[in-house]
Amino acid sequence: MAAPGKVAAFRLPPLPTIGEIIKLFRLKALKQLSQNFLLDLRLTDKIVKQAGELKNAHVCEVGPGPGGITRSILSAGVEQLLLIEKDARFIPGLQMLSEAAPGKVRIVHGDILTYKMEKAFPKHLKKSWDDEPPDIHIIGNLPFSVSTPLIIKWLENVSKRDGPFIYGRTQMTLTFQKEVGERLTANPGSSQRSRLSIMAQHLCTVENCFIIPGQAFVPKPEVDVAVVHFTPLVQPKIEQPFELVEKVVQSVFQFRRKYCFRGIETLFPENGRLKRTEQLMMTANVDPTLRPFQLSMSQFRNLCNAYRKMCDEDPSLFVFNYREELRQKKMTRSLLGSTGQPEQT
Ligand code: SAM
Repeated sequence: MAAPGKVAAFRLPPLPTIGEIIKLFRLKALKQLSQNFLLDLRLTDKIVKQAGELKNAHVCEVGPGPGGITRSILSAGVEQLLLIEKDARFIPGLQMLSEAAPGKVRIVHGDILTYKMEKAFPKHLKKSWDDEPPDIHIIGNLPFSVSTPLIIKWLENVSKRDGPFIYGRTQMTLTFQKEVGERLTANPGSSQRSRLSIMAQHLCTVENCFIIPGQAFVPKPEVDVAVVHFTPLVQPKIEQPFELVEKVVQSVFQFRRKYCFRGIETLFPENGRLKRTEQLMMTANVDPTLRPFQLSMSQFRNLCNAYRKMCDEDPSLFVFNYREELRQKKMTRSLLGSTGQPEQT
């Protein structure tokens, strides 16, 4: 019995090892689904520790698979654990874990890309945005093909304060391919500085916690894995709509080895392109000969604010699509033939 005034630590009853669960339920990793499992519970404990204090927290684990990380989350003494797993083969093994932790686990057989996270947790956990983060965490070791589109979607949710962020500044601890982890946290001047660095860092504090060598997984992936922790910022570093920031950032990085004005040009239609690019760079006070990876967050903020001003003055600007302009030009050229005259048929 726990000593008076102390809460007893939660301990799972003896269970088959993760390796035994894999054998018992014949859970062969599917290469086409990029399944790589973590069997070492010291490592899964280390990942879960990066999430912070989980005692009495509500946690959503994405892609629990055979349940290594799941066990570590339960051992951390959480109040409720929501598991979202796409592959039905894992559900019986997860049910075994659920029975070992009565009343704590909810299992959803579903896809995290479409699951409605705004309904995932009890309403009373909601905190206001400028308060401390709520007692809600998202943790997951997902396939790389899912974790990158998912973080872009969740960053958009952070910006709009919807999805898992209707509860406040929900924290996330997720794994990525090592190189993606480096991009997410890259500083100005780093060769890894990219669209992902700006999109993540203008909305969140992003911490590259540690690297898990590929050989720790079964089967071993081609690459090492980064564990990355995100806490949404009270005040985003760029206070403009997500779509606008994304458009500016994507345009800047379109020609990552060239001067930044080359990418910025693509925000404007051919007619008046140079003049408008110069106007934007001047208003934003950004040296047009800097390379995209050299730009600081405040320079990106200035570019977004200046572009917003131009879009407010000319609302047709925001819908302009450079690629579409190129496509139209190409079509016209092929219709006219190389002579610039309509082809005779
Ligand atoms: N978390 C386990 C571990 O660390 O051993 C499994 C990791 S494995 C790399 C990824 C897991 O995510 C698999 O169980 C896979 O079925 C699941 N998964 C893949 N795509 C998913 C999706 N869209 N929604 C939910 N789960 C998904």
